[in-house]
Amino acid sequence: MRGTVLYAPGDIRVEERAKPTIQAPTDAIIRISAACVCGSDLWPYRGIEPIQGPTPMGHEYAGVVEETGRDVRNIGVGDFVVGSFMASDNTCAICQAGYQSRCVHVEYVGAGGAQAEYLRVPLADGTLVATPGWPDEDLIPSLLAASDVLGTGWFGAVAAEAGPGKTVAVVGDGAVGLLAVLAARQLGADRIIAMSRHEPRQKLAREFGATDIVAERGDEGVATIKKLTGGLGAHSVIEAVGTQESMMQAIRSTRPGGHVGHVGAAHGVELPGQELFYAEVHLLGGPAPVRRFLPDLLGLIWNRTIDPGRVFDLELPLDQAAEGYRAMDERRAIKSLLRP
Ligand SMILES: [Zn+2]
Repeated sequence: MRGTVLYAPGDIRVEERAKPTIQAPTDAIIRISAACVCGSDLWPYRGIEPIQGPTPMGHEYAGVVEETGRDVRNIGVGDFVVGSFMASDNTCAICQAGYQSRCVHVEYVGAGGAQAEYLRVPLADGTLVATPGWPDEDLIPSLLAASDVLGTGWFGAVAAEAGPGKTVAVVGDGAVGLLAVLAARQLGADRIIAMSRHEPRQKLAREFGATDIVAERGDEGVATIKKLTGGLGAHSVIEAVGTQESMMQAIRSTRPGGHVGHVGAAHGVELPGQELFYAEVHLLGGPAPVRRFLPDLLGLIWNRTIDPGRVFDLELPLDQAAEGYRAMDERRAIKSLLRP
């Protein structure tokens, strides 16, 4: 089968790889209908996150079950499924509490590389959710978005306690940040401030429900958020980048007693203890437990209440994955969808 492999920073190739096979009785093999490039794939692509030799890439997927292990009960061959990037049993105490991304049996689904024709999904019963039937072609990008960026933006909004009566600020205008705006709107937030300097992203943020746009960042961005909120800061702030600057921008934009949902994969972030102590804000974040939200999100997509697939502004055949990475790295594209 064909699949992407990262050899070195900037060197992404699509090559012939072994088709995955069932390794455990709880596995499923799915034929990928659509995969995509994640903002987090850019960390190793840019050389910020080191890789140990050639690495299969991709952890977002939607597709059709082709084969199941003998212990798989809830899904069957021929089902159209979406799953989280983290495999979970969905039964342990951590899963039951809603933190499937930290399941005691967690496995990284992306280890097999989802930017490919086929993918092995461990713990298939706990990880995958089937759609009610065969999706219309135009729903597939949105279903794919639920696999990570929508689920992650949604977790950020839930962790930040976005909801009625709240002013929400979103730091980061990548796909996760934009979908955090959509989530905050769905959760009923009064006011949603998207922090973005890029006109096409500002436009999509407004279409997803942003009421205000703040183009400044860092200390200036914080000052503008304070000005818009009577000097207090936002009730709820979603951090969707993962750098020191974005994390501090999020914490400093939050009012005392407010909530920060940080879902940007942290790279080199160190929090100053004394400032954190006096900030007096709630912090919750991490790899999103997408599986907690998947059934609801697939329902909202299926009945066409939300259209998160609009974050894909570039669609390419899998063989042109390198261009998909380049376009996102150069910020020419918000998110690249790949068709095997
Ligand atoms: Zn579990």
